[in-house]
Amino acid sequence: MSAVETELYTFEKSEEIFAAAKELMPGGVSSPVRAFKSVGGNPVVFDRVKGAYAWDVDDNKYIDYVGTWGPAIIGHADDEVLDAVKATMDKGCSFGAPCLLENQLAQKVIDAVPSVEMVRFTNSGTEACMGMIRLVRAYTQREKVIKFEGCYHGHADSFLVQAGSGVATLGLPDSPGVPASATAATLCAQYNDIESVKKIFEDNKDEIAAVILEPVVGNSGFIKPDKEFLEALREITTENGSVLVFDEVMTGFRVAYGGAQEYFGVTPDVTTMGKVIGGGLPVGAYGGKREIMELVAPAGPMYQAGTLSGNPLAMTAGIKTMERLEQPGVHEELERKSKMLIDGIVAAAEKHGHEISADCAGGMFGWYFTKGPVKNFQDATKADPEKFGKWHRMMLERGVYLAPSMYEAGFMSMAHTEEDIKRTIEIADEVLSQL
Ligand code: PLP
Repeated sequence: MSAVETELYTFEKSEEIFAAAKELMPGGVSSPVRAFKSVGGNPVVFDRVKGAYAWDVDDNKYIDYVGTWGPAIIGHADDEVLDAVKATMDKGCSFGAPCLLENQLAQKVIDAVPSVEMVRFTNSGTEACMGMIRLVRAYTQREKVIKFEGCYHGHADSFLVQAGSGVATLGLPDSPGVPASATAATLCAQYNDIESVKKIFEDNKDEIAAVILEPVVGNSGFIKPDKEFLEALREITTENGSVLVFDEVMTGFRVAYGGAQEYFGVTPDVTTMGKVIGGGLPVGAYGGKREIMELVAPAGPMYQAGTLSGNPLAMTAGIKTMERLEQPGVHEELERKSKMLIDGIVAAAEKHGHEISADCAGGMFGWYFTKGPVKNFQDATKADPEKFGKWHRMMLERGVYLAPSMYEAGFMSMAHTEEDIKRTIEIADEVLSQL
């Protein structure tokens, strides 16, 4: 069936449920970007997910490129993961005591990620980043950190400075309620611009605890680093006795099994993780050199804890997901499919006279409706938000579920087939012809 013959979806039940949700929860959601504010219209309410697909409460079926914002890399509701989680559940959901499954997932993370010799599990990427920043400050006995405009490291106070993602979508430079004192030690540089980093080091001699970045930016759309930029960060942090941190909550196990640090061959001192390692259940983690990690309580004095951290259900989903990802060729295949998708979208856009710039790494991709190249957040803001909003709604009405913000990356999964991708390109071609 050609996309042209497809009847447009309607969303009666979603509209009704979301209207009720808005009375019950701020904006009707549990996390801001889900409310579709930046693309217009109301969100669809999901009923179920499987493989590469999601169904809403009106029984519309979507090819899903959000993948619950990254975790669903082997496909949604994978049978093996579900069976293993059910078996674990029979033994209990949470122990609040050591369990063997923690050792097993920790070993997998340590084997996979070049920088990680020891790991601490948390319940979210935000918590992982909160632990990480306390750790780098404890280790260096310095307070200032450098982050990059458009990089998101969760919603802790000290990171809500030019933080991309939901914050950019809402047009808030940072958030009310964050005390000035909480962000005073957070200094912002420009992504892919080593001179902006050097300047901060020069102005703050022997004061920088760490440089923290998304080694591929997924919270300003999709921005690849220049390899030389990562190498220069490695050098300047080493020279200045500062810690280099890759926030791989999004890129970890996704752009390569060993994350962006494997993909680009640059090893940080500390890494934060999340999303994929929970296989759809809530998990985050931070890890790094033994010498640094041994500062974390109770091995050392830096306090950080969690009632549900390392719970057996999340550990099981993570282990089962990692078992699939560690097979040879998985990430090459993810990148092949990501490339097939962006090549198709770019060709369709150009055919219909739209400016576009697109790129991918492993199972992560993105495009902007602007000429490009997009090297940093400022470049990303040149893309056309109105066009993006229309594009998003038209793709949605035809069965393609894309991230509802031009400041979010897209995610490919092992479950997406060539047929799914071809169908997506066909639909995109039709939409782009009308935009
Ligand atoms: N760091 C990065 C790079 C992220 O992309 C995210 C979430 O998208 C986070 C941290 C925060 O993770 P969570 O949403 O699990 O708290």
